[in-house]
Amino acid sequence: MALVGCHECDAVVEEPEVPDGGAAICGRCGGTLFRRQRQTVEFTLALAMAAAILFVVANAYPFLSFEMQGQVTQTTLGSGAAALWEQGRYAVAALVFLTTILAPALQIGLLLYVVAPIHFRLRVPGAVIAFRWVERCRPWSMMEVFLIGIMVALVKLADMADILPGLALWAFALLIPILAGTSAFLDREIVWREIGDLE
Ligand SMILES: [Zn+2]
Repeated sequence: MALVGCHECDAVVEEPEVPDGGAAICGRCGGTLFRRQRQTVEFTLALAMAAAILFVVANAYPFLSFEMQGQVTQTTLGSGAAALWEQGRYAVAALVFLTTILAPALQIGLLLYVVAPIHFRLRVPGAVIAFRWVERCRPWSMMEVFLIGIMVALVKLADMADILPGLALWAFALLIPILAGTSAFLDREIVWREIGDLE
């Protein structure tokens, strides 16, 4: 039997059975021990699908267009990382690729691979490993840091060139709160239980 601690009064109790959408209340102080998200799979699936579409748009369309002395240069997420690589900044290029492309792609892809079959009651191989990797990818997904960096660069470059934000930039900006939303709605306990039920 698992034990849970009360955040309010530090009481340690055996973890009670709680229905989805319910909450466990501390018997000593009345504080909330934990909640079970209602429809966590459906919310997470919907947000992960939206995130997948935005991620494709963020990578397929131009991120920024620069116009300098009549010359227009377009950059995409991938070409930004590639340009850093060509300049010999291998560590920075690898880090940008990992934190803005690879980690979010794995996080979204694996999340879909785990929650979509739960919703449709299908059994898929490797769901346990996939869900573990969703959690492992999360700390490496740092698109908001990248976006702040882009904004700083934009302010500095604004005097030198005309800069037009591309479709990908808007998709990217929207993707950040949606991906945060998948984490907020995701009730790990429920997903683990559902994976166990399907095995
Ligand atoms: Zn308590």
